[in-house]
Amino acid sequence: MIQQAQKVLNNTFGFNEFRPLQEEIISHVLNGKDALVIMPTGGGKSICYQIPAILFDGLTIVVSPLISLMKDQVDQLTQYGVSAVVLNSSISDDLYRLNVAKIRRGEADMLYIAPESLMMPNIRNLLADVKVSCFTIDEAHCISEWGHDFRPEYRQLAEVRKDFPDAVCIALTATATPRVREDIRQILEMRQSESFIASFDRENLFLNVVDKSNPVDQILDFLYTRKKQSGIIYCFSRRQTDELYLDLKNEGYSVRPYHAGLSEHQRETYQNAFIRDDIDIIVATVAFGMGIDKPDVRFVIHHDMPQNIESYYQQIGRAGRDGLRSDCLLLYSYSDKQKINYFINQKEGEEKRVAKKHLDDLLDYLQTEQCRRIPLMSYFGETYNESDCGMCDNCLRMSDDMEDLTVPAQKFLSCIARTNEMYGASHITNILRGSKAKKVLENNHHELSTYGIGKEFSADQWSQLSRLLVRKKVLRKDPKYGSLIITESGQLVLKGEERVNGVLDRTQTAIDGSAASRTSSEVENRYDENLFELLRAVRKEMAEEMDVAPYVIFPDTTLMEMSFYFPQSMESLGGVYGVGDAKLKKYGKNFLNIITEYCGKNDIDERAREIKKKARKKKSSNKHEQIGEDFNDGKSLNHLAEEHGVKMPTILKHLKTYLEEGNDLRPEGILEASELSQRIVDEVMKSMKKVGPELLKPVYEDLDKTVPYSDLRLLQLYYMAKNGS
Ligand code: ADP
Ligand code: ZN
Repeated sequence: MIQQAQKVLNNTFGFNEFRPLQEEIISHVLNGKDALVIMPTGGGKSICYQIPAILFDGLTIVVSPLISLMKDQVDQLTQYGVSAVVLNSSISDDLYRLNVAKIRRGEADMLYIAPESLMMPNIRNLLADVKVSCFTIDEAHCISEWGHDFRPEYRQLAEVRKDFPDAVCIALTATATPRVREDIRQILEMRQSESFIASFDRENLFLNVVDKSNPVDQILDFLYTRKKQSGIIYCFSRRQTDELYLDLKNEGYSVRPYHAGLSEHQRETYQNAFIRDDIDIIVATVAFGMGIDKPDVRFVIHHDMPQNIESYYQQIGRAGRDGLRSDCLLLYSYSDKQKINYFINQKEGEEKRVAKKHLDDLLDYLQTEQCRRIPLMSYFGETYNESDCGMCDNCLRMSDDMEDLTVPAQKFLSCIARTNEMYGASHITNILRGSKAKKVLENNHHELSTYGIGKEFSADQWSQLSRLLVRKKVLRKDPKYGSLIITESGQLVLKGEERVNGVLDRTQTAIDGSAASRTSSEVENRYDENLFELLRAVRKEMAEEMDVAPYVIFPDTTLMEMSFYFPQSMESLGGVYGVGDAKLKKYGKNFLNIITEYCGKNDIDERAREIKKKARKKKSSNKHEQIGEDFNDGKSLNHLAEEHGVKMPTILKHLKTYLEEGNDLRPEGILEASELSQRIVDEVMKSMKKVGPELLKPVYEDLDKTVPYSDLRLLQLYYMAKNGS
């Protein structure tokens, strides 16, 4: 039986192999045993009942709460050549009758239906006359009052189920809490059932938490390198949603708002436009997301703190269902935390206790200096064992710029101690920097021994340090007055018994994709973007004609593989991810024509599946040549600085010499070492073009001294590497 399942996977769906647990679940179900399936969003739940449905003789009923999703699923299955129908109020009378007839004649493999429809006498009569092999309950958490989305109609499913005593039952959900799980199993009276619980780690999501300093700019920086990508930006309030929407619209982004204050018609229109790639970005409150099955959402931004880990996880889970690398950026600020605290304090008793616990769990995640997957997975009862996931800000940071900040921390702490723990960060900073502010002089704080001992840091850096110390629980903030108080661990730092390591600037790290090391596949990194865009355009045209979402025809992953392997025959096209028999027949020619035409024009051959590693060149004897070659072979600037025991400017100097001797340098590798956003980089490039790249002072002044020399030096090299010195 399982061999047949494998065949369906290959031929119908065009996938090579099963994802974790899929094979076990399918084989369990094919053996007539009930299954409870718990898998994160994007884990691949659908196939677990779709493949059995294709293989079973009788009908598979799929209960699903959202009418909009049903149509989407049926559209997709139809494209795969699977006979699936839907019965609900959204379809025309004619289609309804046609679907009923199909079911009667035993021609439908699957029926998608809402729970309340199942209770209707005419449907019950219809189904009493056909053979039902499998009873599937999607979004099964709706059955439990403990879930986040309880639906009373779901309760009656236990009753309906008795109509089909011989059908095997599968219940599926992405909700992980044990209580909900137990509820599902009990209420549905699942026989000899087994639970299949997949890992909740979504490896393809890059988790990034940065301090919120200037959110609109931070978001613009982020979006700048992600043109034409689909994404969702969550805001706390309707007002914030509308404001950010306008900001982005004014910057020329293709964006719409979504919140409960809009009419139902507007919301539906915007949501559809998003699903169909007519617009790129949705700025939304938490109201947005249920019923979004779009596989190619490339990023989710939280402009404000989410309510708790559970909803955060659900929201970021909407990114990257297709398994491609996707970004999750959260802008974190102390005042957001205060806001949530304020709401919590309005509550009472048990409710308050639970809310507090939720906040603490969330803060553990936001403030951790370890891999973010550790607290996240631990919330879902999993232990995360890797030491470096390579896909979160902390793991990237750990590998390079941790600094020893013990001495400045001691200065900061002793200044707090000398002013009796009565002030906030900005006043302490003023004292350390020797400011003549009125508040400093009035309190005679210019007479303190710590006055003026901290001029090596800018005010901004001190404020970053103060945030870091709060995060590390060396300091805590008085919730009422905002004054900084030294904790026990802070005392140890003062005494020199504990050290402080960290990274000061967290507003920027890896905001633009360029700085983030990618663990994505070779295909993702190296597909031909021009061909990809051509294929996307054709897909969009076809989708419009057929009135379906573009991904229903082929997901991005498929187009990416086409633009990487350049298949030139129907046979090799059939080997591409997501190209099953039915789709190959229906669309193969259309896509193949474009690929062959493009390859002909650009003289590109079909790519053999393996790429030979570049043979390494011989080593050189000169230091700058050696460094230049190592750099071009892929070593990072930081790596080289460490290896040669010198500072970054020295490495840059060597590389400059190497360039000036007429060699090439790979420009993207230079940019990797810069923390600047792509937007600023482009501004600097423009300025260098204008005033020339040779001398830095004119550039520095042209940019109103906003970009420090250390960055300009790096960008000078970048400019020269790109444009030839
Ligand atoms: P879920 O319902 O758990 O959120 P889906 O069933 O929608 O997830 O699957 C997510 C995506 O992964 C879909 O685009 C689906 O086509 C794809 N997928 C599922 N199983 C596989 C597999 N074995 N190989 C490749 N892609 C798969
Ligand atoms: Zn990590």
